[in-house]
Amino acid sequence: MSVGSPEKLESYFGGKWSRGDGVEAELVDPVNGSVLATASARGLDLKAALQFARQNGSPALRGLSFAARAKLIGAIADVLVTNRARYEAIAIANSGNTRNDAAIDIDGGIGTLKYYARLGAPFADARLLVDDKPARLTKAENFQAIHILVPRRGVAVHINAFNFPSWGLWEKAAVSLLAGVPFLVKPASATAMLSHAMVRDVVMANVLPAGAISLLCGSAGDILDHLTGEDIIAFTGSSATAIQIRRHPNVLTRGVPVNIEADSLNAALLAPDVMPGSPTFDAFVKEVVREMTAKAGQKCTAIRRIFVPAGRMDDATEALKARLAKVVVGDPRREDVRMGPLVTRAQQTVALDGIGRLAGEASIVSGNAKAPALEGIDPEKSSFVAPTLLRVKDTTTARAVHDTEVFGPVATIIPYRDEKDAFALIARGGGSLVASIYGDDRVFLARAVGELGSMHGRLLVVERSVADVHSGHGIVMPQCLHGGPGRAGNGEELGGLNGLRFYHQRVAVQGSAELIGDLQAKAGHLH
Ligand code: NAP
Repeated sequence: MSVGSPEKLESYFGGKWSRGDGVEAELVDPVNGSVLATASARGLDLKAALQFARQNGSPALRGLSFAARAKLIGAIADVLVTNRARYEAIAIANSGNTRNDAAIDIDGGIGTLKYYARLGAPFADARLLVDDKPARLTKAENFQAIHILVPRRGVAVHINAFNFPSWGLWEKAAVSLLAGVPFLVKPASATAMLSHAMVRDVVMANVLPAGAISLLCGSAGDILDHLTGEDIIAFTGSSATAIQIRRHPNVLTRGVPVNIEADSLNAALLAPDVMPGSPTFDAFVKEVVREMTAKAGQKCTAIRRIFVPAGRMDDATEALKARLAKVVVGDPRREDVRMGPLVTRAQQTVALDGIGRLAGEASIVSGNAKAPALEGIDPEKSSFVAPTLLRVKDTTTARAVHDTEVFGPVATIIPYRDEKDAFALIARGGGSLVASIYGDDRVFLARAVGELGSMHGRLLVVERSVADVHSGHGIVMPQCLHGGPGRAGNGEELGGLNGLRFYHQRVAVQGSAELIGDLQAKAGHLH
């Protein structure tokens, strides 16, 4: 990254780039606090931006078959692959990512695009989707019904969180484009440099029809005031912002569909049968530490609560502590560094406050509620938080551990008496994106899936046989549902073709068997 005057990020809509007035946000390097860029959307005409996308992007995309849209998605992936090295440098500078962190974000985005490009390809000339088989409604055999999915004709407004400026952008964009719905992405201001650079490259490569892609750099302004019943909102971020969006008067009045991906207190559960030193125990320790430290714990899916049988508490605590001690924290540009800073000093302050709250009911095993002293790093300008492991003192009184999401390298060990106790304690999280279960007793594992399923969007079950081959607790795979009930937002993203549902209107069509047969023949099939 060149050091000079900060770049002024522009927004892209209506077929051109424009910049808002003044400065709404400064984007910094969280290692040293230097300002890399500024963003502002003040004064931009967001109503016109949405209208342009509806009038141009929507008909252009709907006019294409699924297979043709899939090609566009593949072309975006090609553009991103070509420029990957530049994106990595931006992720290191603006997000404090290590190379590995940057790969999760950048390659996660590219991989999801490629996956949806492959998924759409076999749909040949189809422009509609059918969801089920025809059903007879009366005695007459030739009068039937079928459910079809028709693309919405508005714009998908994608509002993203700061921790995934690439993956968050492209995992939503891939599904939106395959569905034939143009999108306007609003990255979180703090880390918008990467989204900006990627969208700029895709626009310059001219791979999408006019109006298919729009970018808003700066605050969301009055955009929600201008949405119609044909538009949709896909939001990722905190529960507090999610509530504001859900309650927005225009969103409520017009019935704008909203998908929420919010925060959650994801659990890791060490099963009662697992003995210290076994491959499954080691897999558990490895995964918990990886989850705590990857992206400095700034993953919505990261493990926050670690459930361990009461009799294994000391073994688990010591093993986790020993592994955490090996994590080198510092400037992510250094080859030996395994964990960088949080993205801003504001996030650091909130995380350190959160550790303080947890420390009211848990003892700190390693780490600190204060910024760590690191060689060559100015603590007044940087945003580091030490990997911090806590251990709950009394599970009957502990509350904060089940409702405070510390968005950093922080997790708490919680002892459980028996499996009933474990399931009840996990439920106190109020609904999560993901839980992982580590054990080799299949009867227990099946019971745990049944008990924990209703509170989660995804369950990763790690037995000895998959200990070295699983995709990871916190890694979202496009084949699988991403989202979770309750406090996680009750949203659903990805999950293969099922992800397309949100971008379509589901219509029951009643008519002759011949008409329904014709529709079926020309449509893509969800199942
Ligand atoms: P945030 O503060 O809620 O911001 C999320 C996005 O909403 C940003 O783009 C923000 O823009 C925008 N925003 C803020 N106020 C708004 C309003 N009134 N109307 C419309 N948009 C508004 O969340 P964050 O701090 O970026 O992200 C961290 C949180 O996201 C964590 O709690 C994490 O668990 C959650 N998260 C969840 C998932 C998931 O998939 N479930 C994934 C990643 C993160 P500005 O940046 O310009 O303020």
